[in-house]
Amino acid sequence: MPKGKVAVITGASRGIGKSIAFALAAQGAKIVAVDLDSEATDDVVKELLAKGTSAVAVVGNVTLTEDVEKMIEIATGTFGRVDILVNNAGITRDGLIMRMKDEDWDAVMNVNLKGSFVCTRAAFKVMSKQRYGRIINIASVVGQMGNAGQANYCASKAGLIGLTKSNAREMAKRNITVNAVAPGFISTAMTDAMPEKAREELASQIPLGRLGSVEDIANAVVFLSSESSGYITGHVLSVNGGMYM
Ligand code: NAP
Repeated sequence: MPKGKVAVITGASRGIGKSIAFALAAQGAKIVAVDLDSEATDDVVKELLAKGTSAVAVVGNVTLTEDVEKMIEIATGTFGRVDILVNNAGITRDGLIMRMKDEDWDAVMNVNLKGSFVCTRAAFKVMSKQRYGRIINIASVVGQMGNAGQANYCASKAGLIGLTKSNAREMAKRNITVNAVAPGFISTAMTDAMPEKAREELASQIPLGRLGSVEDIANAVVFLSSESSGYITGHVLSVNGGMYM
């Protein structure tokens, strides 16, 4: 388990990223919480500190190299190393392909795919010297199976799976593993706001009969961050209740 390890988590101020931060903290990791929103990120860090976790907030945009380099500098300056990187920050700009605007395509590709590349490149410099690292990319079931109305998002998540496998091959010699977690439909503020009937319909498409929780995803990330997963790299771990297999 990642006791004493330093974990950088992007998009950590809410949803899945926040849950990952708390789950890794519960295993004894030191947390670097990265997000665009300074107030929400500070609140997460305050909660972590109150629980006795060593944690620091970084306000930054994962698509900007200078912000990401600052993120890694703060992590190494505060805690001396970077053991775990979770590329979780992600956005959607849904729409049918006929009507999809260039800026909606670019925005999704930039955050979901380029952001993970920029963060990985920066973390690799440190992990490479340490001869140790765990990189976990948060993909999506729709990157594996496609989804009408989400061509940009699905393409970005399928691309992230390709990035995961290439980086796994490139970094293995340095004792760095790179894996992806592909969540299915996860219960978040967005799905909680849906009418009961629509939620039931979503759940009926899932063999396990329920939407996933943020903790279901965080548990998979904890495993892939741990010593127990040291011989797993380039893998896409589906956490989707069986909706795609
Ligand atoms: P969320 O609640 O929207 O949280 C995403 C976080 O990322 C937000 O705090 C957001 O900040 C931050 N972020 C966005 N762009 C950023 C940038 N350029 N730089 C730094 N931070 C940025 O999303 P979620 O539902 O927890 O999803 C987390 C990840 O899981 C995403 O990669 C998503 O694609 C993936 N996923 C989610 C589901 C699901 O059902 N929820 C299913 C499959 C995969 P702001 O709030 O300030 O914009």
